[in-house]
Order: sequence, then C-alpha cells, then structure tokens
Amino acid sequence: MSLHSVGQFPVYRARRLRQSRALRAMVRETRLNPAQLVLPLFVRPGRHVRHPISSMPGVFQLSLDEMLREARTAHGAGVPAVLLFGIPEKKDAQASGAYARNGIVQQAVRLLKKELPELLVITDVCLCEYMIHGHCGVVKQTKTGATILNDPTLKLLARTAGSHAEAGADIVAPSDMMDGRVRAIREQLDSLGFSETPIMSYAAKFASAFYGPFREAAESAPKFGDRRSYQMDAANASEALREVALDIQEGADIVMVKPALAYLDILYRVKHEFGYPTAAYSVSAEYSMIKAAGAKGWIDEKAVTLESLLAMRRAGADILITYSAIDVARWLRE
Ligand SMILES: [Zn+2]
Repeated sequence: MSLHSVGQFPVYRARRLRQSRALRAMVRETRLNPAQLVLPLFVRPGRHVRHPISSMPGVFQLSLDEMLREARTAHGAGVPAVLLFGIPEKKDAQASGAYARNGIVQQAVRLLKKELPELLVITDVCLCEYMIHGHCGVVKQTKTGATILNDPTLKLLARTAGSHAEAGADIVAPSDMMDGRVRAIREQLDSLGFSETPIMSYAAKFASAFYGPFREAAESAPKFGDRRSYQMDAANASEALREVALDIQEGADIVMVKPALAYLDILYRVKHEFGYPTAAYSVSAEYSMIKAAGAKGWIDEKAVTLESLLAMRRAGADILITYSAIDVARWLRE
C-alpha cells in the first residue's frame, strides 16, 4: 500500500467508519466464527472421572463417559471439532499404549464417532504420554546422557496414526517434531487404505515455556532433559518456514504453529508463504494467564480471550485450537 493511494485529512477521515456498531461491523476485516474452533480434550481410563487440572481452571482429565459429555456440550455450542490427548493406564519404553487397538484414544475415537458422528475427531499423534520417560521418541542412553532416536520413532508414530485412523479418526495430528514423520504417517495411512484421512502437522512447534500447565494435564513431562533436541528454538523464524515446507512436501494437509500468541509473526509468514490451511494452537499458558488475571479482576477474560483469538486470525490462522472453545462459541452467539 503506497501513501499516494490513501486519502488525506481532511478529505479522508478514518473515524467516519467507526461511528456505529453497524458501520464498524460492516468494514470489519477479520471475523471469529465457531466453525474455526477446536477443543482439546484429555481422556483417561475410569468411569465418572472429572479430574481438574489445577493450573488450568475449567480443564479436566476425563474418563470416556465424561469426555463424551464434554464433547456433546462442545458440539451443542457449535464447536465442530475436538483434539484428543490420551493418558494411558500404564507407560512403557515402547509407548505401546499409543498404538494399542484398545488404547484410550482409540476407545475415545470409536465412542465419539458412534455417538456424535458429525463432530470432527482429531487425534494428537505422539508418544510422550505413553513413554515411561516422557519423551516424544525412542530414547537411547549414551555415556554423556540420552539421545532421542529419530528413525526408530517414525515407525511407532506411523503405527499410532494408523491405529487412530482404524478407530475412525477424521484427522491425525503428529506433534512429535521428528524429521520425516509426516511422510512415514502418510505412507502408513495410504497402505492401510486411509488415503482420504488428512494430516494436520504440528509443523512449527517451538520448545516453549508456555507449555508448562499442559504437562500437568497430559502427564507428559520428560523425566530427564528437555525437548530442545527436537522442538524448535524460539528464536528461529526462517527455520520455521523450512519445517513447514518439509511437512507440506511430505504430505501435510493442514500446518500448525504452536504456541500461538507469542508467535504471530510465524503464523503470518507461514500463511503468507504457503497459503495452506493453517492452524494456531493457543497453548495452556496462554489460557492459564488469561484465566488467572481474569479471576483476579485484573482483565476482562471474555474480551481478552476474543481479542487474542482475533489476533491469531488476523495473522493468518484459519483454525483456532483453544481450551476456551466452548465459552468462545457461546460468546460468539450471544
Ligand atoms: Zn510428545
């Protein structure tokens, strides 16, 4: 936009179009709509379990029956999709719970597709919740510590995604950040006859302190070390574009940036550069900070939540993954 193509005061008065609610709405450039929302859900074994996450008020680990209730509430409010995370009965060194036919996520998918067939079921594909050590891949102990093995992990991730598709998942969403996982998953899905199942890749996922509360929710904190050898360095934007390009080349249908609010420049560049359907994951600490300040009366929770999501949309996000999805869908209908 050049300065010459813009009117000048007093011929041009920007305030003319801000005079009424109707005028402002008419020229609004970006909108929030419930159709853009995805609600993450944490599902665990048991019955009638609604275990609160202390650092995320209003978020729970849910047994299958309670998860169905929550999904029904979301669907009723106009939220079209859920993103499932599983907390298994037990963990091991092969993450066998991740790809078990009757694993917790597989059971949840079957139940949701039976009871709420119109609700889109997206599954998080990772191993950390199922690994005894809490890392997203296979660990090899070395003299100097431990390394996360890339290629052996791909087989387990592909197997996990395949089992989710077999259970009926509408979309699989790999979050591990191993190299080559999207291709491995695409090949596995195709070989099982699920060539129509889309992949939403966590394409630019940063090693972020904003994930703190999630680790309590998903019980996935690493027992040693951290995730910096596979998740991205917070300082790198050009590398994020390379990561997204790789995932698209390997077969990603939707690309995600995570976290969202502190990474709006990445969102903007990803959407601008590739034009692919782009998701923003507004992560646990983004939610918790707003909740905490709202509870203290320091900010208006509703207004700040909506403004944050609007900022993600403005930056280029088509899809908004947020723990506030049910509230947001209701607020948008008020
Ligand atoms: Zn993980």
